[in-house]
Amino acid sequence: MASKLRLRKSLKGFSSYSADQIDYSYRLNANELPFEYSEIFSLTPSEEKIFKKNKITDINRYPDSFQNDLKKNILKFYKLKKGQILFGNGSDELILYVLLTLTGKTSKVLYLEPSFSMYKILTKGLGLKGVGVPLKPNFELNLPKVLQNIKMHDPDVIFIASPNNPSGNKFNKNELLEIVKNSKGIVVIDEAYSEYSQDSCVSFLKSNKNLLIMKTMSKIGFASLRLGFLLGDDDVIDCIEKMRLPYNISTFSQLIANKFYQNPSVIDGHIKTIKEQRSIMSSFLKSFTDIEVFASDSNFILIRINKSLLLFNFLKANNLIVKNFPKEKKLLDCLRVTVGKPKDNARFMSLISKFYKK
Ligand code: PMP
Repeated sequence: MASKLRLRKSLKGFSSYSADQIDYSYRLNANELPFEYSEIFSLTPSEEKIFKKNKITDINRYPDSFQNDLKKNILKFYKLKKGQILFGNGSDELILYVLLTLTGKTSKVLYLEPSFSMYKILTKGLGLKGVGVPLKPNFELNLPKVLQNIKMHDPDVIFIASPNNPSGNKFNKNELLEIVKNSKGIVVIDEAYSEYSQDSCVSFLKSNKNLLIMKTMSKIGFASLRLGFLLGDDDVIDCIEKMRLPYNISTFSQLIANKFYQNPSVIDGHIKTIKEQRSIMSSFLKSFTDIEVFASDSNFILIRINKSLLLFNFLKANNLIVKNFPKEKKLLDCLRVTVGKPKDNARFMSLISKFYKK
């Protein structure tokens, strides 16, 4: 496998920054200030309580560069082995790492259009060649077209978000597998929203070494942690590791994430609520003949209406913001609305009724 990997030439025989383990009593290796936060400023009693409760102590020290505890918990959850995971400061950072490392043969990167914009932005920003493959007008996957482009361009990396952002729909798993099987480069299936679709390609990892699954904690309650991870073959992960910044996950993020992954089912009730709300909002929106509503397997709904800017501004004037896409032709007149708390969604729906005077 290692010989077939498309590691960039400049990274062959290259070693990444080597950080030390942190479990020494006397840490005189990393040029930190030895004084703890309590020797720098004093906290209010309630702040102190929060810090203590969350075991926030070593703020003057660098985080665990290897993220060992967290790795163990997540690997156990996904039933994977040591070496099969790599963290990023958000999955945004992981997209960058994949592009910086595994684009050593054709320098071509395939992504769907429309999809998550960072694939294209980072591809272009790094001077790589982007191959955008359009989705069908209803945002379904055009498998023959993807396969045709793989044959024509032999991309080093393919990014596919399923469920897709901004359309919200998931793609057929067998079709995704066919893409993986037909690709000689790396295929990254971005499962940022998979908790809302109850579908995952993690089980394909076992027999497909060129597959990476990308996850994030951002959509399940922890966006401020900036924590994403890649799951995949250990040789592939090893290559990407070469470009990982040494202390990319803060101690605080590791702590909270660790707490979550000790019992990830704590989120199930909230996911259920969002899915119920999604269904209520979709049905409501579909009752308006002027609104086209796209099927969603995620925590947002994409709609298309004739005068989207008018509605967008009306909502804004009422202190409610949704996402619009003024610069993207394929998303002309589309708005993306995140499913919020029931009271936020009720407000959104009442404003829609008001806008259409229904
Ligand atoms: N992938 C997709 C499909 C997304 O929609 C987003 C965020 N909008 C990301 C990745 C990036 O997430 P993170 O917060 O982990 O950087």
